[in-house]
Amino acid sequence: MRSKRVSTRTVAIDFCPERNPFMPSSKGYAALNAQSPLAPFSFTRREPGPTDITVDILYCGVCHSDLHQSRNEWGFSSFPMVPGHEIVGRVTATGSSVTRFKPGQIAAVGVVIDSCRHCDPCKKGQENFCVEGMVEAYNTPDRFDGSITRGGYSSNYVVDERYAHTVPENLSLPGVAPLLCAGITTYSPLRHWGAGPGKKVGIVGLGGLGHMALKFAHSFGAHVVQFTTSFKKKEDALRLGADEVVLSTDADAMKAQSKSFDFILDTAAAPHSLDTYLALLKLDATMTLVGLPDKPPSISVFNLITRRASIAGSMIGGVTETQEMLDYCGQHNITSDVEVIPIQKVNEAFERMLRQDVKYRFVIDMSSLK
Ligand code: NAP
Ligand code: ZN
Ligand code: ZN
Repeated sequence: MRSKRVSTRTVAIDFCPERNPFMPSSKGYAALNAQSPLAPFSFTRREPGPTDITVDILYCGVCHSDLHQSRNEWGFSSFPMVPGHEIVGRVTATGSSVTRFKPGQIAAVGVVIDSCRHCDPCKKGQENFCVEGMVEAYNTPDRFDGSITRGGYSSNYVVDERYAHTVPENLSLPGVAPLLCAGITTYSPLRHWGAGPGKKVGIVGLGGLGHMALKFAHSFGAHVVQFTTSFKKKEDALRLGADEVVLSTDADAMKAQSKSFDFILDTAAAPHSLDTYLALLKLDATMTLVGLPDKPPSISVFNLITRRASIAGSMIGGVTETQEMLDYCGQHNITSDVEVIPIQKVNEAFERMLRQDVKYRFVIDMSSLK
């Protein structure tokens, strides 16, 4: 929990000599435990196999999930933890069976970096819902050697090409990195629940996920209402594509939106009242949660039965849809609004994220590691 953070001391871990000369050495920043700030950390990655690509990381986005997990807010963190699952980099080596990437090419890596590959969701390209559980970019046992995966706040990455993505050449790379989580996590539910012309769509929270949801919902042709607790973001929300902006603490403004929404996507990172938003759904409408506050919500069932409403959840997206989203962004020139930071400022970025002071995604320039 945030209040348990006691130390601001940075801890450097000495580099351990490699046991296997084919395992790439990597340096990055890690949380050594749930209370410490991130600190410099050196480690080795698994030996690349025939279907693997090795990537020199150029940029990595800072997702609120990185903060939740670095502080063990969800209760299943392994330490030391190198966070980061919004990765863009340059391919430096390819295994003998790799067909889609060549050295020198840009590649992107998101949350899903492996899965069982044979269950129904995996066969349908929905590896994010793998029945055996997806392997995530960090904080998950690797299927190859059982080691805990380490993420993109680091100099390089090794990944099976099946789980890597190509990047449209017209997009700026810092703005692409957040698409790998914030982008796909909002694109997928907006597509699934049919956000588009004739639909009134609400977005709760204008942060990393929220600003991408706003851009996509606007691009898909929906009438978009942005809900925010930070009314100083109003002008930004309008610029990013909102048709209306509503301060969620303004009871009259919220009441004026009653029973009018086809779909609401909730991206808020902190505990808040879901009933406030369920009351805005119209008959047969859905509110989908993607935000993952550290405490479970409670709801009044009356808000569901009185409009036959559904409450749902969604988690990132599969490999196929992630590539579809990146290609869509290339065609429509969509990227994230970013503040590029050196890795030495990552702890400050976490604190600013908690103060809702990010416009609208921090992205680490990994050249700052050198
Ligand atoms: P973020 O950049 O910190 O944005 C979160 C936003 O939530 C804030 O900017 C703020 O927007 C809003 N907010 C904060 N406190 C609030 C409150 N008390 N009531 C209402 N709104 C509040 O975080 P993010 O990276 O977008 O991530 C958002 C959440 O999604 C996190 O919990 C993250 O772990 C989760 N996530 C889920 C998935 C998934 O697959 N489901 C993937 C990635 C992330 P305003 O200032 O506009 O109010
Ligand atoms: Zn994320
Ligand atoms: Zn599977």
